[in-house]
Amino acid sequence: MTIIQNYINGAFQPAATGNCLDNYQPATGQIYSQLPDSDSVDVAAAVDAAQAAFPEWQSLGREGRSRMLARIADLIEERLDIFALAESIDSGKPLTLARTVDIPRAVSNFRFFSTAAVQFGSESHNMEGLAINYTLRQPIGVVGCISPWNLPLYLFTWKIAPALAAGNCVVGKPSELTPMTAWLLAQAAHDAGLPAGVLNILHGLGPRVGQAIVEHPDIKAVSFTGGTQTGRILARTAAPMFKKLSLELGGKNPNIIFADCDFEEMMRTTIRSSFSNNGQICLCGSRIYVEKPLYERFRDELVRRTKQLVVGDPMHPDTQQGALVSRQHLDKVSGYLDLAREEGGRVLCGGERLQLAGDLKDGYFITPAVVEGLELHHRCNQEEIFGPVVTIQPFTDEAEALALANGTEYGLASTLWTRDLNRAHRMAEQIQAGIVWINCWMLRDLRTPFGGVKNSGVGREGGWEAMRFFTEPKNVTVRYGGY
Ligand code: NDP
Repeated sequence: MTIIQNYINGAFQPAATGNCLDNYQPATGQIYSQLPDSDSVDVAAAVDAAQAAFPEWQSLGREGRSRMLARIADLIEERLDIFALAESIDSGKPLTLARTVDIPRAVSNFRFFSTAAVQFGSESHNMEGLAINYTLRQPIGVVGCISPWNLPLYLFTWKIAPALAAGNCVVGKPSELTPMTAWLLAQAAHDAGLPAGVLNILHGLGPRVGQAIVEHPDIKAVSFTGGTQTGRILARTAAPMFKKLSLELGGKNPNIIFADCDFEEMMRTTIRSSFSNNGQICLCGSRIYVEKPLYERFRDELVRRTKQLVVGDPMHPDTQQGALVSRQHLDKVSGYLDLAREEGGRVLCGGERLQLAGDLKDGYFITPAVVEGLELHHRCNQEEIFGPVVTIQPFTDEAEALALANGTEYGLASTLWTRDLNRAHRMAEQIQAGIVWINCWMLRDLRTPFGGVKNSGVGREGGWEAMRFFTEPKNVTVRYGGY
């Protein structure tokens, strides 16, 4: 059994208490590793190490830091097979998905912010004939990075890489459900020669070690991705301490399909945007709205293609849907399907728990589901299910589509399918979301601002947004005239 360790001050070690938590393999339902059950004592040690490392990390300069991040990217890439296998075992996602999406993206995150470290500039504002202002962008010091289980390494590195690139030292915590690739990341950082204390990775429970990170007075900024309810707890803790907070929270994303779309392209992408990673991506479109003339054709085709998705062993190359991340999450998703029926919805396909053979007989498998007949106000259309479940509903015109799309407390991402460019721009302007994809989904340019509005979060990640979040601006005014 693998015993995962914390990484503090360049050393691998257990939690100070020596306590451990069990880590389950979603495809088998069995415990296969253990991780430290860390607490505030471990956080204090990590913060001390990070503070001590800060001057050395500064002295490397932007080019030195850039080289270090590039080296970490190279090591993850060299170890891609090891990382992908670990991610798949730990999260239940298909190995092919981890190999082609999760781990390559973690490499890209480090590469991208390695170059950002040397290209990040700051502004100056000239007051003609009087003075010039220039703005310094200085690292904050020690920052916290807390990430969820759905895209474990992908999202963890999306925070850690810009934090380091901007010159900060990091105390990070992955989800307790998926700690394995964060542990491998610590090993890669160590092997790359990252100075001790610059990156510290702690494992354990959110309410214990996560909360201790947010509460620590010397952690001046926290970048968090996770559920909206957890985001509220973080905001409550951090606000009185005036910490900088970036909150990337839940979503209930609409996928709006007009009858004039490219049907085949839309169908292919809609299957992905509905069920990739078992619908456990914050950007998945879980509410699908279809213009009336296309509705029945779309519904029948969606059900046909959904039934064809191969649910099974995450290790098998043909598998498209692996296991859900935990027994608790499987129960939650199944519960929403029961609720959908109670609310008057018709489950057109899927939603059955699958018992596979052999070692996989206790795995957390469920078939992807399509639900029809629910209205906007129903809980299944208002609450984040975060599983392989989509609801479908017809609409008459743009105004109704917009009202449906904007009719939840969330505002993360949205997808729009139409060949009418005027309509696309008109709708994009009015959709309440941080991200609008037109005739595509999850097409990402890492320079663009990433994040949500309403209860989907505060702040933006990506590109300069992330570099700005992880730095403090200081304006300096130099008077040179007008005496
Ligand atoms: P959670 O909010 O449960 O957990 C996220 C992270 O926060 C985990 O590491 C968790 O630890 C930790 N945590 C829990 N409680 C606290 C606390 N009091 N203080 C500090 N940290 C804490 O989310 P999930 O892991 O269940 O992830 C799924 C959610 O993430 C969904 O709502 C999804 O929409 C959202 N998400 C949002 C994205 C976005 O970009 N907007 C992207 C991806 C996901 P532990 O696991 O040990 O509980």
